[in-house]
Amino acid sequence: MIVTVSDLMREMEEISPIELAEDWDNVGLQIGNPEDEIKGIVISLDVTPKTISTAIENGCNMVLSHHPLIFSPINCIRADEYKGMMITEAIKNGINIYSAHTNLDASDVGVNVQLAKKLQLLNVKIPEKTAKEQSNEIRYVRVGELPRAMDELELRSHIEECLSTNDIRLGGRSVGNIDKVMIACGSGAGNIELCANMDYSVLITGDVKYHDYQRAEELGVLLIDAGHFSTEIPMVQALKDLLTEKYKGRIIIESHPAFYYIPAGLK
Ligand SMILES: [Zn+2]
Repeated sequence: MIVTVSDLMREMEEISPIELAEDWDNVGLQIGNPEDEIKGIVISLDVTPKTISTAIENGCNMVLSHHPLIFSPINCIRADEYKGMMITEAIKNGINIYSAHTNLDASDVGVNVQLAKKLQLLNVKIPEKTAKEQSNEIRYVRVGELPRAMDELELRSHIEECLSTNDIRLGGRSVGNIDKVMIACGSGAGNIELCANMDYSVLITGDVKYHDYQRAEELGVLLIDAGHFSTEIPMVQALKDLLTEKYKGRIIIESHPAFYYIPAGLK
């Protein structure tokens, strides 16, 4: 059975509808031809030279990334520049590149939901708008209950164990016993106000800056930096599993902790 890029685009748009993306984002098919037959897929968080070479070496002509390769407008495509080299290599080798970014963060099966699963959160949901908080950005976070009440150090160990990382930082306000949290995958410290307005006292995210901790202290929030990569990588495995379901009977092989591919010959 022939599977084309447009088939996969349709599947991806079911998983992560384009309209869920932020206005500033750039998602969807970035490079390629919807009519191409897919020979194999590399799934990764980022498009790097290694992603492109992994695709070439494994006969894959489709890259599915979370972070878009083309994000800001580009003025030229030069093979002697970092991004231009990847774009040139992709086009030369007939590699299609599709990115699902903030639309995948917001999706019901997306990055935040997969992070919540990894953290063993219960009753995971998008918080309901309150009189205090009417933000439209609410779809980019989730809230949930911890499997049991924990103090701050227990929560840190829990996150370390669940996400297989020992690079966790805590800051802001000490809040004692914790039974529920807000999560925002990737660079989500911008949600401190949302967290406080929603009466949550803990925000787990990544890429936290020094002054974010000060703001968290001011607003009475315990801010936890669990790392951009660690909070988003669960999605790569989940996307592989979701596509395995969709592409029943076809083999998907992992090639690297951050990369997965469906080998050549999706037949
Ligand atoms: Zn990210």
